[in-house]
Amino acid sequence: MSSAILARLRPRSLRARLTFWYLLTLTGALGAVAVFVVVGQARISYRELDRELQVRLLGFVADRRTALLTLDVASALANEVAAEAPVLVRQASGPVLFRSRGFPSLDWASERAAASAARDRTPLITVADVSGAPLRVATAEVPRPGAESLVVQLAASVAPVRRDLARFGLGMMLSIVVVLVLASYGSAFTARRALAPVDEIVRRVQLIQATHINERLEARTGSDEIDGLVTTLNEMLDRIEGSLHSARRFAADASHELQTPLAAMRGAVELCLRADGTAAEYRTLAADLLAETERLSTLIRDLRLLALADRGQMLETAEVVDLAGLVSECCEIASAMAEEKQVVVETFVRGRPMVPGSPLHLRRVVLNLLQNAIRYSPAASRIVVTVARPHGHAMVMVVDHGCGIEPQDLPHIFEPFYRSDPARARDTGGSGLGLAIVEQIVRLHRGTIKVTSVPGRGSAFVVYLPSATAAAGSPSSQPHLAAPTPSPD
Ligand code: ADP
Repeated sequence: MSSAILARLRPRSLRARLTFWYLLTLTGALGAVAVFVVVGQARISYRELDRELQVRLLGFVADRRTALLTLDVASALANEVAAEAPVLVRQASGPVLFRSRGFPSLDWASERAAASAARDRTPLITVADVSGAPLRVATAEVPRPGAESLVVQLAASVAPVRRDLARFGLGMMLSIVVVLVLASYGSAFTARRALAPVDEIVRRVQLIQATHINERLEARTGSDEIDGLVTTLNEMLDRIEGSLHSARRFAADASHELQTPLAAMRGAVELCLRADGTAAEYRTLAADLLAETERLSTLIRDLRLLALADRGQMLETAEVVDLAGLVSECCEIASAMAEEKQVVVETFVRGRPMVPGSPLHLRRVVLNLLQNAIRYSPAASRIVVTVARPHGHAMVMVVDHGCGIEPQDLPHIFEPFYRSDPARARDTGGSGLGLAIVEQIVRLHRGTIKVTSVPGRGSAFVVYLPSATAAAGSPSSQPHLAAPTPSPD
């Protein structure tokens, strides 16, 4: 209940919070200083009161020495001491010989304390008068030759000192209040000035809508922290802009890619509708229609796979996969596919790396790389596939001796629908999503993929994956990457 009230009372704006905490800290600090000063001042004042009282007592004893040494001390002092002087004279054993009218009436306990201070010669004590007001009583001994010593006691009220201290404390409090009022204005002003760039940033960011996404914030606000924030926001805007562009490009490319088989299908259907063809022509058209349908469904399946991979939802089940076995199976399939072009697929297995992951998707990675290798290889060439365990990690390398990739295309080949030579690539039947899917699957397996290529000589795609033991020891560890080179012949 009370915490809910506190939460409601807690200021919500950063400016108010800064001011609030600043004032709270300042109040605490000033309060501590005030207590320290008042206590110090009280000690000084009480010491001063005592010193003054003792000086007065010694002066009294010195001035009245003759009277104090006479036998009838009471009569002698009655003549000499002013009535209002707060003086009391006793025999050292305690009985009172003289008490001026100015000496305050003490309560019973204080009387006893004063008598015992006289007996013990305690120089200073605090007692209370009958009204309870505190008094300091100073005691001095007056030795008398041949007779019992006398004890003179002088009283002084503590009230004036207390009054002065109260005034002093009040003055301090008022000063603190004035300082706090000034400080609250000052801190509110400073907080407003310090946070003005933040307001400006908020205003600018609100203005930067999707349509103005290319605009950036000014990073010279005069404050390192705010400049850091602006730089981070600008970097974030860069990333958002990049994502927006690629999302738009992806949507445009995807609709274009879907359009092509649909247009071909529509053409085939229109031809069928003319109803003047031979049965053989209809069969050809139906075969074309089937091919385009397959192409369309492959494209849609790839798009779905890519979307799932993008959302990290691809690897529902992970198991330990024997990578060498998986690659060997894929190479057998690839050999069958490559037969037509008389391309030979050679497999080298060095070690048996075990990889945590999805066998289905890892198979997709290897098959995609092999399909591309076959696709972009000339007839009667060689594709070399190597499985190894360098530095405890799993590696698959696919090297072909095909057309290779131009250096300017290399950074883009993992982008969806990117084709270094569109006409050529479409002729080969690829959807343009193969490498994008490969990269996403490898990323989801915490692996990396690298490509090196020499145009006209061939390409090498190398996939590094954390092996089962390495992944168990360090889930985020990335394999060490060595730049692969296509085999020389
Ligand atoms: P596609 O379905 O068009 O092959 P990919 O994403 O698999 O799409 O590949 C993207 C582009 O990278 C291809 O269009 C091709 O230009 C290039 N590429 C991929 N693999 C190879 C390779 N082994 N040799 C030469 N070029 C390749």
